[in-house]
Amino acid sequence: MEGLRGEPTIKPPYPAESGYMGKPTNVNNVETFAAIPVIILKGAKWFSSIGTEKAKGTKVFALAGKINNVGLIEVPMGTTLREVIFEIGGGIRNGKKFKGVQTGGPSGGCLSEKHLDTPIDFDNLISAGSMMGSGAMIVLDEDDCMVSMAKFFLEFTVEESCGKCAPCRIGNKRLHELLGQICEGKGSLDDLDRLKNMSLVIKDTALCGLGQTSPNPVLSMMENYRDEYIAHVTDKKCPAGQCRSLMEYVVNPENCVGCTACARVCPVNAITGERKEIHLINPAICIKCGACMEKCKFDAIFIR
Ligand code: SF4
Ligand code: SF4
Ligand code: SF4
Repeated sequence: MEGLRGEPTIKPPYPAESGYMGKPTNVNNVETFAAIPVIILKGAKWFSSIGTEKAKGTKVFALAGKINNVGLIEVPMGTTLREVIFEIGGGIRNGKKFKGVQTGGPSGGCLSEKHLDTPIDFDNLISAGSMMGSGAMIVLDEDDCMVSMAKFFLEFTVEESCGKCAPCRIGNKRLHELLGQICEGKGSLDDLDRLKNMSLVIKDTALCGLGQTSPNPVLSMMENYRDEYIAHVTDKKCPAGQCRSLMEYVVNPENCVGCTACARVCPVNAITGERKEIHLINPAICIKCGACMEKCKFDAIFIR
């Protein structure tokens, strides 16, 4: 068998301490390898002049989500989240309000407005309740529900869990179920305590990094957006208007001119009203498809 270049230095079977095909081997991240040529060309001193005291050089991030400029960026360590999101990323799409940024992928945490001026490096992200992780940054806006988002990120872990240890195999499924119940308006304040306690136990007892970091989105979102979690369990409302079970389509009588367009488009005949009279939506029949709101030219239908 031939190695990457010419004959292997030793023949198989290779001793356990040898590298790939018996050759000297260095397994590393592509980003690390990509930094090496420029360090050789320009020197370690030059490289160390970029970044912060503790974190030298640059970092590549994958900017995604509700941001004007998505894509890969490379910035000096110590650049703030505000610079990344509002200067390089061009701010939030469609003039919406910034709500948070999930850094480090599904194992990371969600940072809020109070973290925008945090200089990005490994330690600062961990202190803020997140991590550098994969370098992913998913920007969220005012329309994102932080209970649904925590559930969304947990789906990845539930899917990827190898099943070897119970905290990750069973615990993450239970977390996911609890979040689902909260999104459906079936959660209680006790469930918020349960979510937190179970997350801490999973972090402490899971066998590998996947399980140990999987509750991070839940913990950070509960910490930074507590009011939103409470609104779901006490008022049975989703402030972002994303959880279908908690939505109610309502006609504003001040705007309704009785044109009947909404009633004609409703697929389940949930809207009643005579021509030129105020229309009404029956919440017991409404399947929350949103067709009426889209059709109304008078902005008379809203979500409560
Ligand atoms: S924590 Fe690691 S070892 Fe345990 S089930 Fe999850 S992936 Fe497997
Ligand atoms: S489409 Fe709008 S204005 Fe027309 S009846 Fe329905 S709610 Fe009223
Ligand atoms: S949201 Fe859909 S189902 Fe509900 S009233 Fe409007 S059109 Fe009918």
